[in-house]
Amino acid sequence: MDSLEATLRQLREAFNTGRTRPAEFRVAQLQSLGRFLRDNRQLLQDALAEDLRKSVFESEVSEIAISQAEVDLALRSLRSWMKDKRVRKNLATQLDSAFIRKEPLGLVLIIAPWNYPLNLMLVPLVGAIAAGNCVVLKPSEASKSIEKVLAEVLPRYLDQSCFAVVLGGPQETGQLLEHRFDYIFFTGNPQVGKIVMAAAAKHLTPITLELGGKNPCYVDDNCDPQTVANRVAWFRYFNAGQTCVAPDYILCSQEMQERLLPALQSAILRFYGDDPKTSPNLGRVINQKHFKRLQGLLDCGRVAIGGQSDESDLYIAPTVLVDVQEMEPVMQEEIFGPILPLLTVRSLDEAIDFINRREKPLALYAFSKRSQVVKEVLARTSSGGFCGNDGFMHMTLSSLPFGGVGNSGMGSYHGKFSFDTFSHHRACLLRSPRMEKINDLRYPPYSPRNLRV
Ligand code: NAD
Repeated sequence: MDSLEATLRQLREAFNTGRTRPAEFRVAQLQSLGRFLRDNRQLLQDALAEDLRKSVFESEVSEIAISQAEVDLALRSLRSWMKDKRVRKNLATQLDSAFIRKEPLGLVLIIAPWNYPLNLMLVPLVGAIAAGNCVVLKPSEASKSIEKVLAEVLPRYLDQSCFAVVLGGPQETGQLLEHRFDYIFFTGNPQVGKIVMAAAAKHLTPITLELGGKNPCYVDDNCDPQTVANRVAWFRYFNAGQTCVAPDYILCSQEMQERLLPALQSAILRFYGDDPKTSPNLGRVINQKHFKRLQGLLDCGRVAIGGQSDESDLYIAPTVLVDVQEMEPVMQEEIFGPILPLLTVRSLDEAIDFINRREKPLALYAFSKRSQVVKEVLARTSSGGFCGNDGFMHMTLSSLPFGGVGNSGMGSYHGKFSFDTFSHHRACLLRSPRMEKINDLRYPPYSPRNLRV
């Protein structure tokens, strides 16, 4: 038996003993996960800086603190989440007990990408632990420093008979996916999502797919350009643009474009200074492959702001493109880097048509001082999540489900939604053994009398 098979067998056996089911076990593992985050804060910040040149601020708000907040919420809420939910009964079951029990699914696999390599591994893990599962964690091979911390340090904090980290790239992940899991939670791009879904289908394994895509951002004429520019520049260039919910492109009128450009220039200058390359606040592209892909996209349309790059430093300046054609590569693929194309439209209807001609995005943004405009974009489009007059703030609320729709994914998580994702909602009815006489009504031989209920 190879070592992967042995690991999976051991995890399954541990699950079958029932060890992960008691609330006390789940609480202990979650507390330990919290300790992992607190004890290793500096190590994690350093690893995120090595992988993506993440600033301490960005590491804190988008990786460490957000994971800690999920741990804390699960610890506060676990016992109420785990409680059986009583449901309404009909006449025939009045004397019985009817409820939904949240049961662990068994052995689950979590596959994470590299852009928020800690958050996108630990936040689903919190849900999987809270729901009482055993877990295999597969971090991304591209974010090597975090992969190392997850492989070498995290296991010291968790019960190793129930939780294991498996390393590798596409080939090893392919081998892992040949095995049977009770749930697969995948975050990554839609092409790989299809591979994961096909592998899961062989075992009829249910899945969550947290995928990417091109997130539109509509800017109405009735906006303060500087406010829009500040908000858009912040969430477009956060993590060097490598964010699944970042706005991928802006749709606005020609007049708004003229007003937005100087405002974007001023926001970029304020955030990253005269020479963004020397700014401690701007991240780097993850690797050479993505750098080359992004460099190619700089040839689309016309560079209005930025455009500089340095391969030796994996640096791409915060860039704005204008005069971009719909058929150019920058409008065909998810950008996933610090490049923002502006496309002009003549009306709100044209913007909505443009959005609806494309795959359903993970996030959609609309800016306007007129709430009617924001509500109209919301009503006439579809996306995983929506935020009016800002970007990605909707996903800071664990009271909202986070997930895609259509090409941007299926299923959702965060807060209680994570617990529900990793639980089976078992329909239970405990019948009374008494009052057998009433059942005569349902037994054959049938006669019109049976229907008189
Ligand atoms: P990716 O799909 O290339 O990799 C994700 C994981 O899949 C990694 O662990 C990788 O090892 C594995 N993998 C890659 N190729 C594989 C293959 N052929 N077979 C089996 N496994 C394979 O994604 P990425 O480049 O790491 O991340 C970027 C993508 O993830 C973007 O599309 C982005 O939008 C998306 N994303 C989505 C969310 C979300 O929450 N919806 C969050 C972050 C990133």
